[in-house]
Amino acid sequence: MVKINSDIFIKNEMLKSLKEPQSIEHSSSSIFSKSGKVISESQNVSQTVDTDENDKKLSELISGNYDVLSSIDWKTSEGTQQFLDISEKFISVTGKSLYDEMISRYEAGKISKDNLQKNLKILLDMSEFTPNNQDSDDVWTSYYDFLDLKDIVLSDNFNIEDLKNIDYNNYFNKVTRPYAENARKAKLLSSYDVTKSQIAPLLPKITNIKTGDNTIIQKFNDKEYQINYSDDAINVRDGNKQYVIEFKNLLSQINDENDKNSVKKMIEGLSAPVLIDLAVEIDTIKVCNDPDSATYAQYDGKDNVITINLAKKDEKNAVFALAHEIGHSLDFSKHEDRNMVTFGFNQQFLEIARNEMKKLAGKEDYEKQYATTNPVEMFAECYTLLNMGSSADSNYVLATYFPKTVEYVKKQIETQRNLPENERNFIGRDTSLLERIRDNPSW
Ligand SMILES: [Zn+2]
Repeated sequence: MVKINSDIFIKNEMLKSLKEPQSIEHSSSSIFSKSGKVISESQNVSQTVDTDENDKKLSELISGNYDVLSSIDWKTSEGTQQFLDISEKFISVTGKSLYDEMISRYEAGKISKDNLQKNLKILLDMSEFTPNNQDSDDVWTSYYDFLDLKDIVLSDNFNIEDLKNIDYNNYFNKVTRPYAENARKAKLLSSYDVTKSQIAPLLPKITNIKTGDNTIIQKFNDKEYQINYSDDAINVRDGNKQYVIEFKNLLSQINDENDKNSVKKMIEGLSAPVLIDLAVEIDTIKVCNDPDSATYAQYDGKDNVITINLAKKDEKNAVFALAHEIGHSLDFSKHEDRNMVTFGFNQQFLEIARNEMKKLAGKEDYEKQYATTNPVEMFAECYTLLNMGSSADSNYVLATYFPKTVEYVKKQIETQRNLPENERNFIGRDTSLLERIRDNPSW
């Protein structure tokens, strides 16, 4: 569901099932401050669920206090895991599912109908995962039953007899349990240390040396860039070439000063080559505020605009998401004699990536991180990894399964960067090409 023209959903595909937009974490990556010091070595900060707390909640639930359900933040992966742990313990202690027990208690007159309705709604929200296209008809049937169940619980005149006709436990076992388990494993992967992987030699070596109040020299592999940060602009000097990111133009569609400052801060976290790509490729960065969306940022290839979802407070992830979108923009540049999306239609790239993709066949879903969505996302994630030291959400899968693809992308980016600047402008300015990229490249 990633459209080339109105791309690009970081994690959206996976998060439909994982429900965990805030869970993307990156090891081995650094966010740079103005002073050029590393301000955040992002080690794994994932929290382990407190077992004592789980036990307390479990005993509340066993005693019939279902209101405790509302204290589980099921929109986070910690909450999902907590819900799964508690649900399973509940079954092992009582021999019944929480759902069945709630209904029994209501029928025994121990809880009110309002209380039942309120807490069933929470229980169903926590249990809900949408199956994948690859899932069997059987799984999808149980999902549709589940949706019917939700409708009944939400209706004003909900009837207890109707509830009993639908098998919640079947859905829990077929969908909730495996998907929550998958989310848990995916979460563990997000702290994968790519610097200790087989692709470590391909990662950038970035060193910042402070040379003035607002100026640093950034050593990026064997190159040196001078970067100057001010409130109005970021200047990047590469030898005798000067690149300027003027905020007045770039952020002209952002009205709120705080929003502007948030975006400036993200931009300051980009490495020098990504800043240069931003200066050359992108005219406009917009913001939106959508807490319900799993999307951190998206790139619209038609207008050449990046939109950042500021509801995603996690700055660390936002910087990688921004770099990822700039990667899309580079990918949409002119390339050699062809004005078209480079990587989605680059046969050599496709051949290498498809070949490595074979190793993923039969693996569990949680291993198939965002880069595997389609060739365009594969490029953007490789780009982010190669230019920032971490992808947005694919370090494990790239390091484990795609070393040759990453290596190929590295060479291609170097070629692309060596093109004269007037040959790497935004593809959308050539309208005839837009017709040719209507079809999304796929594996
Ligand atoms: Zn993308």
